[in-house]
Amino acid sequence: MLKAALISRVRQAQPVQLSYFGVIALCAIIPVAPLSGRAADFVIHVSVDGLHPGHLQTQINAGLAPHFKRFQDEGAWTNNARTDYSHTITLPNHTSMITGRPVCSPTEAACNPVGAAHTFHHGYTSNSDPPVTWTLHNQGNLNIPYKASTFDVAHDAGLSTALYASKNKFIIYEQSYNAAAGWPHANGADKIDTFANPESSLTMQTSLLSALAASDFEYTFVHYADPDDAGHTYGWGSPTYMTSIVTVNNYLGQLFSLVEDDPELAGRTAIVLSADHGGTGTNHSTATNAANYTIPFFVWGAGVAHGDLYALNQGARLDPGTGRPDFNAAGQPIRNGDGGNLALALLGLSAIPGSSINSSQNLRVAFSGDFNLDNVIDAADYVIWRKGVSVTPTPDQYNIWRTNFGRSAGGGSGSAGASPSRAAPEPAGGLMLLGLAPALLLRPRRRLLECTLELQAVGA
Ligand SMILES: [Zn+2]
Repeated sequence: MLKAALISRVRQAQPVQLSYFGVIALCAIIPVAPLSGRAADFVIHVSVDGLHPGHLQTQINAGLAPHFKRFQDEGAWTNNARTDYSHTITLPNHTSMITGRPVCSPTEAACNPVGAAHTFHHGYTSNSDPPVTWTLHNQGNLNIPYKASTFDVAHDAGLSTALYASKNKFIIYEQSYNAAAGWPHANGADKIDTFANPESSLTMQTSLLSALAASDFEYTFVHYADPDDAGHTYGWGSPTYMTSIVTVNNYLGQLFSLVEDDPELAGRTAIVLSADHGGTGTNHSTATNAANYTIPFFVWGAGVAHGDLYALNQGARLDPGTGRPDFNAAGQPIRNGDGGNLALALLGLSAIPGSSINSSQNLRVAFSGDFNLDNVIDAADYVIWRKGVSVTPTPDQYNIWRTNFGRSAGGGSGSAGASPSRAAPEPAGGLMLLGLAPALLLRPRRRLLECTLELQAVGA
């Protein structure tokens, strides 16, 4: 999509500026209308190949990875996320990231509930340069004729998409989602608008930065190969490996700068970052080794609060400790495969068809109703919601705010079904003049609360 069109669409989402009297009139006669929207207008979905969270934290603590640290200082994050269950290699895990499906081979029970049809896992287990005839659809789990991806959902919704990878073998995704192999749709079968896969992160980064500056893709997947390359040659944790983390840190710094210096991207972009696997020695292929299956999962930007991801997801995800839960475990860890449906949720899009990881899009990066992202749901959030400053109002956001009013991270009531800890505030007596409005008579407390807060919102 052209930048001008993007700007136009973004501008349509801007709230109408209301005068003091306009607000009074509006809150007297207009009920809260369902509105559609999203938390972020742009998502950059990053994978750092072979990023071991322990080594990463060493570099962060040494002050050598300030841009990674920024995710921890400002975003929602964990160093204890998980890869796929059965595979800790590159292409199978990246396929999970974009399809929201486990890897598995067709006979494995780990990701297929007993008795269920084997239509969950993508089954793409190759990690080599694919033959030109291969796609994700004609390989792997052939019970699934077409394995939809984040690119399908975003592109079919009219969003611009890009994939920038620094390994040639990522061509499998272009072969799977190009005009010949992609699912037919009015917006085109070619789901990835811009694709690059040089075997060089520097070449890739240079292309990415210039393309993003020119086009502001709404969904961009970026893959940095450096830690994996260094680990295979010199070992995970070797000086060269540690330097590779700094290299990617610098790439991230360039991304942050680009986002914050671009008026269209600034304040409207979220970054989702994880890894395909860790590593130990000079390899990472043993799926039962914690050094291989433990990865970071960091989220930053529009719609993202600051805090521990497991704390934000009580009741929805369970910190696995040092364990390795399979896909049938009652408490699922946060996985790299969560990222695809999280990215789409941030963009206000529905889940990837056929996905099973985060398919209900319940991985939270902020408490529901916490529109100012301070981990407390209070009147300040209503003001933000009504003004539309940091979020674009969505159909149920108002009701979510009402339901969650009073909840806070400190109160330990962050789970999805928990009751709010106190009632929404009583209206101010001075606003009883508005009691003549029909809507107010129907729902007096709600309408008065809204109007009280709207007056705050316009600076009254
Ligand atoms: Zn590798």
